[in-house]
Amino acid sequence: MFNDILDVLVTVPGVRISFDDGNDSDAQSAAPALLERELAGTFYVLAGRLGSAGSVSRRDLSALLAAGFSIGTHGMHHLPWKKLGAAAVEREMVTARRELEDITGRAITSAATPFGRYDRASLASLRRFGYSEVCTSDRRLAVPGSFLQHRFSVTSTDTPDSVLRAIVAAGQPHYRLAKVSIGLAKRWLA
Ligand SMILES: [Zn+2]
Repeated sequence: MFNDILDVLVTVPGVRISFDDGNDSDAQSAAPALLERELAGTFYVLAGRLGSAGSVSRRDLSALLAAGFSIGTHGMHHLPWKKLGAAAVEREMVTARRELEDITGRAITSAATPFGRYDRASLASLRRFGYSEVCTSDRRLAVPGSFLQHRFSVTSTDTPDSVLRAIVAAGQPHYRLAKVSIGLAKRWLA
């Protein structure tokens, strides 16, 4: 079903595809399927799970980058970025990113909020720390260049039809699809 959904997405102009949580299936299944279709993708990784069972390894991150994919941060321990204390903000938004930057040798300026949750304070912190974009799961079309990049979550119960229906139900006439970017988070295991 995942490949069938990708076959639909490849026809949507401006689509952006992303994967949260850094599951090892990102490197084993998702990346090859994207490459086959010449689709770009961003992988939002949890620094605190790198190399653990079921998660991507440091070597996987290098391979994803070498294949042309982008890496973003999903924080350290997958906590909702809402009502976070100062220590948690530092760990989730600063330390986690630094660890990923040390491993990849690249600046990381894109984040995806765990559970799609955020509040005014967490967005202010992310801006202060120099992030250029923050991905949510608000099921709205994303405007290119906006700080908040809305996404539609695609889960294991989705079908190509349900994904297309969600895009249309977002209320945008079809002709506008060429002008917007649609972020999709795939969450088979989350
Ligand atoms: Zn997540």
